[in-house]
Amino acid sequence: MRLLIVEDEKRLALSLAKGLMAEGFAVDVVHDGVDGLHRASEGRYDLVILDIMLPGMNGYRVCAALRAAGHDVPILMLTAKDGEYDEAEGLDTGADDYLTKPFSYVVLVARVKALLRRRGPAGGSPVHVVGNLKVDTAARRVFLGEDETVLTAKEFAVLEHLVVRAGDVVSKADILDHVWDFAYDGDPNIVEVYVSTLRRKLGAGLIKTVRGAGYRLEAR
Ligand code: CA
Repeated sequence: MRLLIVEDEKRLALSLAKGLMAEGFAVDVVHDGVDGLHRASEGRYDLVILDIMLPGMNGYRVCAALRAAGHDVPILMLTAKDGEYDEAEGLDTGADDYLTKPFSYVVLVARVKALLRRRGPAGGSPVHVVGNLKVDTAARRVFLGEDETVLTAKEFAVLEHLVVRAGDVVSKADILDHVWDFAYDGDPNIVEVYVSTLRRKLGAGLIKTVRGAGYRLEAR
């Protein structure tokens, strides 16, 4: 599951991202409305957390533009305490839910999960099957044949990123960007560590190394 946070208060955005990543979500963060609209329009997110007062383009306009372009990604709006959020206007523009700042992190996570569930089977994350590997991205469970393989949140996120693009080459940088978030400035070789753990747990041959390009997940 990939989430996009569009929030110009950088400390808030980063702490939300950190918390949601600890829950096992892949999270990208942008700090202005124009970037937010651009990234959300790529259609690769399962949910967008959208602040209203943003530089570039406000949250209402971002939301309205996404809906006008036919994107049905769930949108959770964030609003300041002073009543800047007009519920009627927000719902008019197509937001699914809103939260008033300051909010408790626990409430945010509950709302995010509720929205992802509400999205239902039609738009929800599918179960991906590659050979004898089955990855249920909604239940966050992995099976090899009938046997369940237990993964950590991060291991799952790396596998999820590979399995939704099964058959394609996925670069290490792409995994870093989307699983760790694009502000990660640690050692890129962390990806190799996770891939080798996944190979140990899932068996060799499933995740292939494509020299100089990245990794490809395919049926053995
Ligand atoms: Ca703001």
